[in-house]
Amino acid sequence: MTTVRLTVGAVLRFPQSRVSPVGAKKPAKILGLGPMATVLGAPEEQTIGHWCSRCRGIWYGYLLEVACPVCGNRHG
Ligand SMILES: [Zn+2]
Repeated sequence: MTTVRLTVGAVLRFPQSRVSPVGAKKPAKILGLGPMATVLGAPEEQTIGHWCSRCRGIWYGYLLEVACPVCGNRHG
């Protein structure tokens, strides 16, 4: 379990198998939560981090959410 502390003070956990920050030496952009996670008020522990290669950032989805909430990319 990797813990990344951002300048905003939020602590985010990155599930290693679902996030692939390819060549990312600089901190990844946090895109926010997917609609399901937002609507359901999912606890942070139950959201899964996804890498979006279009936005070059990470967004958090709940359960089966697979599309980036920013651009709709479903392919990572
Ligand atoms: Zn995106």
